[in-house]
Amino acid sequence: MQHGIAANIAGGTHHAFADRGEGFCLLNDQAAAANYLLANEPAVQKVLIVDLDVHQGNGTAAIFQHKPRVFTFSMHGARNYPHRKEQSDLDLPLPDQTDDATYLKLLADTMPRLLDEVQPDFVFYLAGVDVLATDKLGHLALTREGCRQRDEFVLELCHRHQLPVVVCMGGGYSERIADIVEAHANTFRIMQELYF
Ligand SMILES: [Zn+2]
Repeated sequence: MQHGIAANIAGGTHHAFADRGEGFCLLNDQAAAANYLLANEPAVQKVLIVDLDVHQGNGTAAIFQHKPRVFTFSMHGARNYPHRKEQSDLDLPLPDQTDDATYLKLLADTMPRLLDEVQPDFVFYLAGVDVLATDKLGHLALTREGCRQRDEFVLELCHRHQLPVVVCMGGGYSERIADIVEAHANTFRIMQELYF
């Protein structure tokens, strides 16, 4: 709230439900933090969760399904885990091999409209890098530059709207660790450029 941005070099455990863990996720950090903010921070009346990890944020969707103060948006691989999807407030399922241009256009067509409609006071951004073509589990076809432009688009938009944002890491399962680290590092480089 003070600095406009905070980032967790881990976290983004969006497959955890209120009553159980699932898919490498024990506790749903963004859900817990969103609930904490709504209970303790009077300036935050409405939260938007932007989940761009390649897997649907099923735990997050279920936790907030009947909670109008948290809007859940998940853009994910249609045919990827979890095979039984929950219902987010907005789901954008993508076909396998979705490329940079298609992905970025869809995001650009969606996010500004979403901010207008939801009017959030706070954003959680789950910046999973398992959207990369190199990812073993992702099935999409983004380049590292496409992934960087995704982060830049989301963070620049939040910055321009003076919306406080928390970024969490999410997934990344490329064969070469360097591919994962570089993509995550890009997220931090963009934050540094925009905010500091
Ligand atoms: Zn994932």
